[in-house]
Amino acid sequence: MDKEDLLNDLKKKIIIHSKKFPNKNFVFSDGNFLSKIMIIGEAPGQMEDKMKIPFVGRAGKLLDKMLNYINLNRTECYITNVLNFRPEKNRKPTLDEILIFRPLLLNHIEIIMPTKILLLGATAAHAVLDHEGPLHSVRGIWKKIDVNKNYFNVLTTFHPAYLLRQPNAKKITWKDLMEFKKL
Ligand code: URA
Repeated sequence: MDKEDLLNDLKKKIIIHSKKFPNKNFVFSDGNFLSKIMIIGEAPGQMEDKMKIPFVGRAGKLLDKMLNYINLNRTECYITNVLNFRPEKNRKPTLDEILIFRPLLLNHIEIIMPTKILLLGATAAHAVLDHEGPLHSVRGIWKKIDVNKNYFNVLTTFHPAYLLRQPNAKKITWKDLMEFKKL
């Protein structure tokens, strides 16, 4: 099976969980599925739900700036979220939801086979690194994850939605992005 078939199979497995998110759209990914750079956020917001594309709202505009800072644009990356449906009223994903979506996300990573992954915020760190502690203990540090004996380089930084609320954290995020660019 080629990548497109594998991604279509994965979509079917994810859509099974749509019943838990009534009246919400399926938001799968954006960018280039052949890219070796994968970006993972938390969950779609209102705008993403409407457009069925990840990171198209205010946080998405800031993500575009973050990518531009390291000479990338979204057509050169592959962008997805831990959850592929918008949680009601933009609440944070629950532990149950993260546990349901984690194997699907790991499968997603295996299909894309990126050389490096940028995690945006605590939910992505929780799902991908199995890290439940504070973000600062993993932020800016390269980690390797093992998905069925395939190893992936992962760096975590702040979520752009957090940066909109806490612009002081931008300086350190820009440092993380330079670190991400290096590999
Ligand atoms: N926040 C996310 O984590 N993902 C999106 O797609 C939009 C906002």
